[in-house]
Amino acid sequence: MNPTSPPRLLALIAGAMLAGCGSDPTSAPAPATAPPPAEVPRPDVVLVTLDTTRADRLGAYGHPQADTGWLDAKAAAGMRFQRAYAVQPLTIPSHSSIMTGLWPWRHGVRSNGDATLDDSMTTLAERFKAGGWQTGASVAAFVTSRDWGFNQGFDTFLDRIEQPGKDTWHAHRTADKVVDDAITIVDQAQADQPLFLWVHVYDAHFPYTPPAPYAERFADRPYDGEIAFVDDQLERLEGALKAKGREPLWVLVGDHGESLGEHRELTHGLFVYDATQRVPLIISGPGVEPAVIDQPVSQVDLMPTLMKLTGRPVPEDVDGKVQPGNPHPAWMESFQLTEQFGYAPHTAVVDGGHKLIHKPQPELYDLVGDPDERTDLAPTQPDQVTRMKGVLDAMGPVMPTGRTQALDPEALAQLQALGYITTSSFDVDFASLPDPALHRDVVGKVLRAEMMSMQGQHQDGLVLMKEALDEQPAVAGLYTRYGRMLFAAGKKDEGIRLFDDAADRFPQDVDLLLRAASTIGRTGGDARSLELARRALAADPESDRAAEFVTGALINLRQHEEALAFTASWLAARPTANNIAALRGILLFDGGNAKDAEALLRQAAKDSRPREGVCQRLGAMALGAGVLKDAVRWLEREESLHGPSPRTDRLLLVVLGRMGEEERALALADRLLKDSPDDPELLHARGVALFDLGRLDEARSEVEAALVKAPEQPDLLLLLANILRKQGHQAEAEAMRTRADAAHAKRLEQLQKARPAPPPPRTGG
Ligand SMILES: [Zn+2]
Repeated sequence: MNPTSPPRLLALIAGAMLAGCGSDPTSAPAPATAPPPAEVPRPDVVLVTLDTTRADRLGAYGHPQADTGWLDAKAAAGMRFQRAYAVQPLTIPSHSSIMTGLWPWRHGVRSNGDATLDDSMTTLAERFKAGGWQTGASVAAFVTSRDWGFNQGFDTFLDRIEQPGKDTWHAHRTADKVVDDAITIVDQAQADQPLFLWVHVYDAHFPYTPPAPYAERFADRPYDGEIAFVDDQLERLEGALKAKGREPLWVLVGDHGESLGEHRELTHGLFVYDATQRVPLIISGPGVEPAVIDQPVSQVDLMPTLMKLTGRPVPEDVDGKVQPGNPHPAWMESFQLTEQFGYAPHTAVVDGGHKLIHKPQPELYDLVGDPDERTDLAPTQPDQVTRMKGVLDAMGPVMPTGRTQALDPEALAQLQALGYITTSSFDVDFASLPDPALHRDVVGKVLRAEMMSMQGQHQDGLVLMKEALDEQPAVAGLYTRYGRMLFAAGKKDEGIRLFDDAADRFPQDVDLLLRAASTIGRTGGDARSLELARRALAADPESDRAAEFVTGALINLRQHEEALAFTASWLAARPTANNIAALRGILLFDGGNAKDAEALLRQAAKDSRPREGVCQRLGAMALGAGVLKDAVRWLEREESLHGPSPRTDRLLLVVLGRMGEEERALALADRLLKDSPDDPELLHARGVALFDLGRLDEARSEVEAALVKAPEQPDLLLLLANILRKQGHQAEAEAMRTRADAAHAKRLEQLQKARPAPPPPRTGG
């Protein structure tokens, strides 16, 4: 139980003032010998980020059909911010701002997947941890996992998310599982220490598939059903907290909304209208007086506001301000229109009652009189546009910066000599891109077509998509999307032809060229795939991703020597290209050169999510060196990142056996044998575990049975010899041993005949 009695809000604020609001001592780890003064109250804090949840779909925000009783009660008892704004319509950038209190250009995460929240950033969890809180998180999706730096400051970070079909990007789990994990954190928390808990739920994200009985109850509006399900799960979490005597400060915030068809956007991620930007924000708990706040606030305000509410020093170097009472313009942005369609990006600002969307053709809305943003006032109110543009310009350096790191001239020459580089780098000039408003019909068609495709209406979807493409043949992104739909509809050949055609139309579009390379490569067109990857590299000679594709295509074509030469040159020029280090390390290791592979694999493993196979090979290497603890660590990391694979499991089986962990080995062997019941290696591993456990009779009968399935398998014969010896049948054991040696010699001979010569190990340029 938390020893601090529920503090009143005023006491908290006074405490914060006494503690001083100057320089922020929380950015440095708190020395263990100096706990925070006992008089500063430290309440438990639960931050819930509600993915894809529109404010106006909660009862508290006026949705008459909502079934969000728990959230509504929290809102009624606490502060409800009527106009809270997300910084981006995408999960990773918006969560980065929630956690840091910084605008996107300060933390550098401008899109999903373009950057990881840097270690140099000070997160909410780090601030609470430094203040003496224990910290735990349970998150629902790959996009909020440790891969994006969100684990900073957490003692416990539960983000193990199944990845069915290896669709990493959309991997997620439902709120019941998230809350199960959150309850584990609550149960294991120290009773005499305050807790900061972050819970991320993803259920409201498309596709809307609430579980029973919500699916039935909300058959005609499943999006509401998902939110109702989340509401009940959060109530369950509160029950678990209450059972431990914890009465936390609840912070409930959306990461972005969902357009649900408004402005022709079906989900989120493209435009910055209120449908995707206006999110619920509720702060409720002991000491918080009920209030409805109409002033606009932003996600960046959450960090300083929370610091103040919990008696922590309010950092001065963040963009957010303590709310309510400190109005400032709310910034928002989206670059997906550029990344996906080649249109100009959107930046926008809400100031007072107005919103300006800045792009080649600006849009201006009166959010008070026209909350649905139906009437663009820009043509009739040029002065207001000018004023708002001034507000926006005053906010900061807002556009993503271009590439700055140049290749050193020698490396450039080397790559040019190898034929990989023909042009210098290029940058997109945002000002030259078309305004998406002029093409909203096309965007709408594309989104509807894709929705149809996802729902299995392939033919109708393809017709609509073709229409969009015919209207906008100069938009590279449409080809990629059309191609993906063709593949989903099973029209593989047509898809390949489309990608091929698009690659010729857009010879400078790295993303499109690499997608084409990847698609064509997956269908076996390795030579063409290599050519496309080389063209991508020519278009952007500094792209590590293009270099990765070139290397991958060379490996697929079994041009190992060239792949080694290429990766050596690349790494000489860009020693920090961990993706290339990974490929080169794997290539060297598999070619028998573990010595040169090791440093590269270790470098690659420094990434939060190293390429599949990197940790596995490091595990194999540790096993070879007899460092079994390291081997287990590497192999378990490989599995946690990329799921189980036969090769990793087998290595793990050997390691566990050698470590004397027979019970675990036995359990693993049993699991693997379910999939491959006749596999001699697995049967052998199981036999060894039984042998080591002293279960000799069982071991003998199983190994004898295994030898019927895999006759003359040398390892099985040798194991049987050992079992027989231990059972006291010396003569039989001796005979079996001779048979095993003969089988082993024969197997070796066969292997040497069958095995292709490994690529000669080569290093240097
Ligand atoms: Zn999201």
